[in-house]
Amino acid sequence: MSSSNKHLTTSWGAPVGDNQNSVTAGSRGPTLIQDVHLLEKLAHFNRERVPERVVHAKGAGAHGYFEVTQDLTKYTKANFLSEVGKRTPLFVRFSTVAGELGSSDTVRDPRGFAVKFYTEEGNYDLVGNNTPVFFIRDAIKFPDFIHTQKRDPQTHLKNPTAVWDFWSLSPESLHQVTILMSDRGIPATYRHMHGFGSHTFKWVNAEGNAVWVKYHFKTEQGIQNLSNELAAVIAGQNPDYHTEDLFNAIDRGEFPSWKLCVQIMPIEDADTYRFDPFDVTKVWSQKDYPLIEVGRMVLDRNPANYFSEVEQATFSPGTLVPGIDVSPDKMLQGRLFAYADAHRYRVGVNHNHLPINRPHAEVNNYQRDGQMRFDSNGGNSVYYEPNSFGGPEETPQAKHAAYPVSGVADSVAYDHNDHFTQAGDLYRLLSEDERTRLVDTIVGSLKLVAREDIVKRQIGHFLKADAEYGSRIAQGLGLAAPQEV
Ligand code: NDP
Repeated sequence: MSSSNKHLTTSWGAPVGDNQNSVTAGSRGPTLIQDVHLLEKLAHFNRERVPERVVHAKGAGAHGYFEVTQDLTKYTKANFLSEVGKRTPLFVRFSTVAGELGSSDTVRDPRGFAVKFYTEEGNYDLVGNNTPVFFIRDAIKFPDFIHTQKRDPQTHLKNPTAVWDFWSLSPESLHQVTILMSDRGIPATYRHMHGFGSHTFKWVNAEGNAVWVKYHFKTEQGIQNLSNELAAVIAGQNPDYHTEDLFNAIDRGEFPSWKLCVQIMPIEDADTYRFDPFDVTKVWSQKDYPLIEVGRMVLDRNPANYFSEVEQATFSPGTLVPGIDVSPDKMLQGRLFAYADAHRYRVGVNHNHLPINRPHAEVNNYQRDGQMRFDSNGGNSVYYEPNSFGGPEETPQAKHAAYPVSGVADSVAYDHNDHFTQAGDLYRLLSEDERTRLVDTIVGSLKLVAREDIVKRQIGHFLKADAEYGSRIAQGLGLAAPQEV
């Protein structure tokens, strides 16, 4: 055994005399409850897990930096984007969506792509996916959608009938379903995929002028994907394949990088654009709003401890800095509540005090107490506002930009219902080989659906996206000619 100059202690710091033999009444007698070291050790072990994230449970993370390569201060006053060459430290967490903490990395699933920028004006979280769109566009549908992605309550198995039933009854999902079933639905590694903010956000400059913005992280490793067959083999042999790949690449000094680009839309275009620009099931065509480079993200340091840095990392789309604001996207609006709420539940109300989440900027406020408040809790400083004791004060320039709203309070559906054009555009930009694999994957999945009416309803959507797309799927399933479907 190696000798150490450190004493093993209890969690209260007292030296431990024996960590191999519990205190018993003689060598054959029962264990004594007075062995508090044993009790504490067993009790702490029972509590090692925090609740698993309901979505995005399985993930991997890395530290790195963002460097500005182009001056976009005419669009945003965000301090971390204020000058070319400026570097901001960051932490990224990649993830699958549906699987549990121990599930396989190489499944067909969107990948989470969450970035925490530790800016001088507080943390900025960009919490997106590796896809530019999402399955639904109103947060009120999210729990139902995720139920269909999770396990059946009776069998505890994945349920393809539920998956396609929901999608076929939610045709706004068609665009994302097409992306998911295409080659990019199983990235080769976390390094070989793009990332997207997905939602529309608002940028505001120093003069108070605003634009709408969408974010694209373009992989500098190039896009690479896994075939269904190879992914299945890897899932069996090494369920942690993507986690291992990211760690090993950084460990070898092969630092993955992404170019960050944005699309900028003038505020007034939102009223007249041919798609609702706040509908997260749609992209803004790059022919209308070309990509503009902003900077480069590099991941160059592995976490020293998975639990403290990756499992306890908490990202929320509402973690914003001056110069960056939200849009009326209904999915984003729901996420502003849901993400922070998930963190309060699973990590605790003081999650932003943990080292991985703690801003590098100074934090001054009147929040006090709460579970696991492990810093000085504001000490004896003033704990309410307004006050006459020189407590922290507001920064009027940091107020959100004002904008007009109007309307009748009601449960209002989106007024844009073309779910088909952009899904069809994607199908039409694929090569013949890519189309064949897309159709084969969809056919393979639809074959598992227990009810033909669900399959036929879904084929109707594919047909509306592109007649060839829908026909090939119908043929692959041995169903009637499309016009009879
Ligand atoms: P463009 O031709 O200007 O852009 C096409 C986009 O598709 C590029 O971002 C390209 O990204 C991406 N792309 C290329 N090949 C594939 C593929 N095999 N699978 C998935 N994406 C691919 O056209 P539009 O902007 O008008 O968009 C047309 C369609 O492209 C959309 O309906 C959408 O489905 C898809 N798309 C659009 C994006 C956007 O933000 N406008 C983003 C991603 C996809 P790259 O070359 O880097 O791979």
